[in-house]
Amino acid sequence: MVADCAVFLQRFLQGLKNRKMAIIITDECINCGACEPECPNTAIYEGGREWNWAGGTKLEKVELEDGTQQDAKASQQPVSDEFYYIVSGKCTECTGFHEEPQCAAVCPVDCCVPDPDYVETKPELEAKKVWLHQENP
Ligand code: SF4
Ligand code: SF4
Repeated sequence: MVADCAVFLQRFLQGLKNRKMAIIITDECINCGACEPECPNTAIYEGGREWNWAGGTKLEKVELEDGTQQDAKASQQPVSDEFYYIVSGKCTECTGFHEEPQCAAVCPVDCCVPDPDYVETKPELEAKKVWLHQENP
């Protein structure tokens, strides 16, 4: 029984360790721009600027939820008009490039924080990195 509990606890803690969250920029951002050039996926954009899937990736087409395909260079509406923002679909928490999120590492006001509404596992983040950079053989 005790051994079963120990195994469960070990798996539970491992599960917690494997849960990762995309990074979000809060409204404490001072718009210094330090984070933008650090992102290996070009997932960070200045407030009010349109974004696209192709920037910083090797994507040419992206499949939308309705099954249609869209040119990855197509402009998308800004996520924020006031502050620098992160496109969650392009954020891999720097998986495959760096040990820790680079935007959080350089932000002078510590406003790049984990987004509890956007939780992904490490394998999911690794798969996203492979997809963004089209690393499949
Ligand atoms: Fe880009 Fe890494 Fe920040 Fe995500 S965590 S936005 S991949 S710099
Ligand atoms: Fe905003 Fe921080 Fe990025 Fe500067 S480094 S633009 S304060 S999120």
